[in-house]
Amino acid sequence: MECPRCRGSKLVLQDHLGIEVDACPQCRGMWLDYHEMDQLEDTVMDQDHLKGSMMYAERPSDIRCPKCAQPMTTFNYRAYDLPIDFCDGGHGFWLDAGEEKRVLELMEKRLRDLKRTASAEGEWVGFLKGISGRKPPRPGSFMNRVKGWFTGRR
Ligand SMILES: [Zn+2]
Ligand SMILES: [Zn+2]
Repeated sequence: MECPRCRGSKLVLQDHLGIEVDACPQCRGMWLDYHEMDQLEDTVMDQDHLKGSMMYAERPSDIRCPKCAQPMTTFNYRAYDLPIDFCDGGHGFWLDAGEEKRVLELMEKRLRDLKRTASAEGEWVGFLKGISGRKPPRPGSFMNRVKGWFTGRR
């Protein structure tokens, strides 16, 4: 695959937090397949039902999907001020240099906010139980996640 930002620059396979991503050596952006974005977030918080909707304020992007060459769509990551590009064909996400760190920072912030809310509402114990119990992998869970991501679409 070629970098959607740098003409002619080939993406190279790279290990990022145990996730195999395709990164551009030139602009240091990276491509994440659909499930890899979820894996990235899971390094901070793996409770999908607490993550909320991923996509807000969708608009046309200025780059094309490195897999299918269709124009991508830009959205604000989980209603934060972080624009990310994704392929409508379901191929994946393009993160510019440093955006993967922002994703993790925002997921950590969300986790802190959720804990604060849970403790304010006296649901702290139940919340902790939910957080510490890793969910077992189950068939079809990937499609459920994808569906979950789109429930917040406008
Ligand atoms: Zn590049
Ligand atoms: Zn695509």
